[in-house]
Amino acid sequence: MKDTIQTGIGSCHTCPISCWRVVETRGMYKEARIDGPEYETVAAFGSLILSDDLEAVAYANHLCNAYGLDTISVGSTIAFAYHLFEQGVITPADTGGLILRWGDIHTAIQLVGMIARQQGFGVILGEGSRAVGRRYGVEDQAVQVNGLEVAMHDPRAMTGMGLIYATSPRGACHNQGDMYWVELGRALEELGMSLTDKSSSEGKAFTSARIQDWRSLYNSLIMCMFSNPEPHGVARMLSAAIGREVDLQEAIYLGERAWNLKRAFNNRRGLSRRHDKLPKLLLEPLHDGGAAGVVPDFDRMLREFYQVRGWDWATGRPTAHKLVELGLDFTLPDLWPLADLALSAD
Ligand code: SF4
Repeated sequence: MKDTIQTGIGSCHTCPISCWRVVETRGMYKEARIDGPEYETVAAFGSLILSDDLEAVAYANHLCNAYGLDTISVGSTIAFAYHLFEQGVITPADTGGLILRWGDIHTAIQLVGMIARQQGFGVILGEGSRAVGRRYGVEDQAVQVNGLEVAMHDPRAMTGMGLIYATSPRGACHNQGDMYWVELGRALEELGMSLTDKSSSEGKAFTSARIQDWRSLYNSLIMCMFSNPEPHGVARMLSAAIGREVDLQEAIYLGERAWNLKRAFNNRRGLSRRHDKLPKLLLEPLHDGGAAGVVPDFDRMLREFYQVRGWDWATGRPTAHKLVELGLDFTLPDLWPLADLALSAD
């Protein structure tokens, strides 16, 4: 991108990282100064569609941003439709005559507009890949968790991401816990993390839970995930903001508390352990590449995760003791009404 279409960079107010990319596209998608795609989008509209047309990928990114559409969800859902078209599950009768062929990003761009304007086949795609899968009787082929498409950090390459996707409060979201950074070598020792073999399924539970707790706090503070000041510094900033001392241990506790509150909320809405799962495709080994032959030992990892979290294996809920430990007693009447009575009697 830097060698071809990038013309500049940009940033949020005063940010020294300046992660924005400004690009100029030519040809049929000619635009003067538009927002350049980042990693997820290049994968979603490039690799997943099998297109190497960078200018078209940049334009697709620009369209999604202009329409307020998430590029991971849109690109993945369109790619899923391409897959089902290849299988003959979706036909031109469904698409209004459109032919969905690998490598054809122009049709993908057309579909982005149809999703945004809720036209024709775009109405169906706009519901996301889980709904598309359900509609055509192939939900198990959709690469999503609890309705959210999986981001571009494959649990077969970094097994801990499997726990993150499966247990995130809003589906397969990589921003609920960037375990991929830890597995690529950036363990935050201040938070008690240690480096692990990214291909192994051993010892991932504690670190996955800890990065989730940390991000739960961090996201609550509305901080950019690219900046990552050292954790003690975050605790000091939080102390300055609220006017009382918060040390790192309490900051982690607050993150764990927030994470479990979100879990309790989702439990009340019907979430249980059966929802903590990975898409079938991500539990099948790749045949080549750096992650060839690796699949997470997901059941084992999830059992360890439940133990670390203090969650009940039968129901998928935080145990009554965990909720009390975190000062979330007020959730007991909904989650554990009998335990609530027992604890009151204590
Ligand atoms: S790194 Fe974060 S704060 Fe900085 S420009 Fe990028 S998004 Fe904005």
